Amino acid sequence: MTPLDSAPRDACTCCGPKSDERTIDGLLSRLLPGIAPVAGVERVTLREARGRVLAEDLVARRPIPDFRRSAMDGYALRGTDVAGAGVELLAPLRGRVAAGDSGLGLPDGPGIVRIFTGAALPPDCDRVVMQEDCRESGGLVHVRKVPPAGANIRLPGDDMPEGTVAVRAGTRLGPRQVACAASLGRASLLVRWRPMVAVLSTGSELVEPGEPLRPGAIHNSNRSLITGMLEEAGFDVVILPTVADDPGSVAQALRAASACDAVVTSGGVSVGDEDHVRGAVDAVGGRIDHWRLAIKPGKPLAVGHLPRPSGGEALFLGLPGNPNAVFVTLSLVGMPLLRALAGLPHVPPPRLRVRFQGGFRRATGREEYVSVSLSPGPDGMPVAQRLGHGSSAQQSALAAADALVVVPASCGLVEDGALFDAIPLHAP
Ligand code: AMP
Ligand code: MG
Repeated sequence: MTPLDSAPRDACTCCGPKSDERTIDGLLSRLLPGIAPVAGVERVTLREARGRVLAEDLVARRPIPDFRRSAMDGYALRGTDVAGAGVELLAPLRGRVAAGDSGLGLPDGPGIVRIFTGAALPPDCDRVVMQEDCRESGGLVHVRKVPPAGANIRLPGDDMPEGTVAVRAGTRLGPRQVACAASLGRASLLVRWRPMVAVLSTGSELVEPGEPLRPGAIHNSNRSLITGMLEEAGFDVVILPTVADDPGSVAQALRAASACDAVVTSGGVSVGDEDHVRGAVDAVGGRIDHWRLAIKPGKPLAVGHLPRPSGGEALFLGLPGNPNAVFVTLSLVGMPLLRALAGLPHVPPPRLRVRFQGGFRRATGREEYVSVSLSPGPDGMPVAQRLGHGSSAQQSALAAADALVVVPASCGLVEDGALFDAIPLHAP
């Protein structure tokens, strides 16, 4: 066993590092540089901006906030009324400023001002005492301990000084980034066009959910999986009618699909007599840039391009048919390529270290992604347990999985208790 601290990244603690041949990283580093983002920007409202890719830098054109405000509920003091910090003070109440008031127009002269969180500080005040340190009675305020100048005041630009680039172009906008734009006063934002992705299921055995199954048929689940993953990632999805395993029908469907920026098919991409997708790519004048990866599930993945009727090319992703293979290949290969089309950088999925419980033997040569449940281990390291029987057709295991454990290609025995990297799957 390799000691844990000398184990290379991507390795388990029972075997060595994986080979680089036909790996996901190898494929991505070859294909990503060739993918240009979809050209075009549009202006959308803040409400519509969530999930979109920002096409401009969001800059603070003035300090945010642009006035001094109180950081607490309390009393604002004039420095000129104060003998020094740390002393007691008894002074008359001069006025009251709540959030939204200007803080201007109070009577001149000595005295203390009642103030609330977020309220503008009167111009002659220089500190705020928290209300817990004060007692007010009969128009007089007793301050137990005067704080130093500047206490409990938020200065102009405290959130963002003028000129701050709050959110950079190329960022995918979530609620936090949209809120930041709102704090700059922006009601609309410039965003990139969303890539339009066609989803095409192939397979003569497929029947849509809700329809009765004839003998030998199964319900089409890949369409829901692919469409859901794409929509969650912010793509516009065009769903095409399912096609049977017939070369002419597949080619015709690909021709229609190629009007989109990208085409994602499932099934029919392997080596069987009924696998017509690669042949159809050829028939419509497209090309396969890469076929087959040393991964399990997902080996037959094909990546290429289709000619677009309007000129240029659509990215083509020919995913395998087995649902677990669809999930793995779309998550780990398809998404990075499609994100590049959306103008987003490649960010490899974060991994965590887990302890595998219950070993198993496996054939070497392909990196394997195993659906597991995670539970907290006694030493703080999550314990991973394999779900299901390891078939790439088993949807229930994928649906229940907390993570995919990454078993390196060279690992022939997953030892009980060995440590592995895992890709956590987020709850929706
Ligand atoms: P294929 O790659 O076409 O040989 O398909 C591999 C396996 O995945 C077969 O058992 C198919 O029935 C199954 N499969 C293909 N497409 C789908 C789909 N859209 N939904 C569910 N299972 C599918
Ligand atoms: Mg098939």
